[in-house]
Amino acid sequence: MSHKVLVVDDQFGIRVLLQEVLEREGYQTFLAHNGTTALDIVEEENPDLVLLDMKIPGMDGLEILRNLRKRDRQTKVIMMTAYGELDLIQEAMEMGALSHFTKPFDIDELRHAVNAQLRG
Ligand SMILES: [Mg+2]
Repeated sequence: MSHKVLVVDDQFGIRVLLQEVLEREGYQTFLAHNGTTALDIVEEENPDLVLLDMKIPGMDGLEILRNLRKRDRQTKVIMMTAYGELDLIQEAMEMGALSHFTKPFDIDELRHAVNAQLRG
């Protein structure tokens, strides 16, 4: 069975780009544009890995991560951040985020990082 990856980002362009790349890699891909949707999908689908944007209106990436950790400790999380969010990145790492990519990221590097986590 293929691994499940959830992409959480408020930007439509990022979501569809990552969906295309991840599906080409053979992953079952889910998309969320906000925290509520993301947590619903986590509940229903139990994804293996979450690509999580830090800056999201409403519930931001850290808050989503905090909520995710309340219900489960297994899900792998990679953060997507903007330049200069070092404090937030630090906090995310303390909550078990595996790594982070600064936008605009190299899509191949991100793809390799996902593959390393799920197939490595
Ligand atoms: Mg954003």
